[in-house]
Amino acid sequence: MQLIVVPSTNRRSYSFFVYPALLAAGLGLVVLVVAALALGLRFFQTEAARLRAELAEMEALKQQARLQQEELERMRATAEQVEQELQEIRRLEKDLEHMTEGEDTLPSRSALTRRTPPGEGARGGPETSHSQQVPGLTLASILPDDVSPFVLGKRNTLAMDLKLGRLPSSMDSSLQSSRAVRAQLARQLAQLRDSVRALADGRDQLAAKLDYLAHKPAGWPVYGAEITDPFGPRWSPFGYGWQFHDGIDLGQDYGTPVYATGAGTVVYADWLEGGYGRCVIIDHGYGYRTLYAHLQDWNVFEGQEVERGDLIGWVGSSGLSTGPHLHYEVLVNGVAVDPEPYLESRPEE
Ligand SMILES: [Zn+2]
Repeated sequence: MQLIVVPSTNRRSYSFFVYPALLAAGLGLVVLVVAALALGLRFFQTEAARLRAELAEMEALKQQARLQQEELERMRATAEQVEQELQEIRRLEKDLEHMTEGEDTLPSRSALTRRTPPGEGARGGPETSHSQQVPGLTLASILPDDVSPFVLGKRNTLAMDLKLGRLPSSMDSSLQSSRAVRAQLARQLAQLRDSVRALADGRDQLAAKLDYLAHKPAGWPVYGAEITDPFGPRWSPFGYGWQFHDGIDLGQDYGTPVYATGAGTVVYADWLEGGYGRCVIIDHGYGYRTLYAHLQDWNVFEGQEVERGDLIGWVGSSGLSTGPHLHYEVLVNGVAVDPEPYLESRPEE
């Protein structure tokens, strides 16, 4: 085959000889190259899309992992708070335990026959018990019903596990599961905070009650005494006819220790006219005062703070008295009342 190229100008024309087979081969080659290029492009496009998808998936997984990590951290933080609340509860429990034991007590009815041990002398203090629990003032009694079982019995092992980096067996690695566990923890935290509040309130109430009980007169001011003259109207032993006996007479030997029957402030420690002789008066607050008369001597000064069981003086017969005894008065809002029920009452009553 001959191809003649004729230029438009008058320049010389060119002529080629082209073999048809060669032309066909050339065209075939071009087609092949184009097809290969198209296929390659398609392949790269597909590959790029796949890579993009993989990248997106990896990004999503990373995001998921990050969320999961954040969730776990939040969970540990919540667990930490739960643990702190539990520690606060244990601290409050210790407070309460401490508060409900070791109440000083005075001689009770059983002490009527008990004398000061020989050799101890007149200045011995009363025996005190430091293991006595105040009845009715248990931790359970001051907690709301819905709180106490949780605080007293059930300990939060979930929070402990999480704090130690252990995941509960019920929890899988999904975010939903983490969120569920955290929600559970948050509920427990709220419950614990309620418990802490309840315990703190209980402690404050208990402290107020214990303060009242520590001050209110209770028990005998002398060991081994007997009531030689009760409270109420009596025929005067001094020839004054009928009169009202404002206190109770507790017969005991000279020099027997006299103890404060409740915490308070000494408001009088001196000779008192009107037949009282050497006399101590204690203001216990809450409207209570106690008076101890006919003392041989006093052992306190005005303004002194005393606790129940503190030695305040010794039995004598000073003032208008027929023999050694303690004249003991209990005044409620300034009015003398029968001290006998107070002698037999325990500090917790
Ligand atoms: Zn008297």
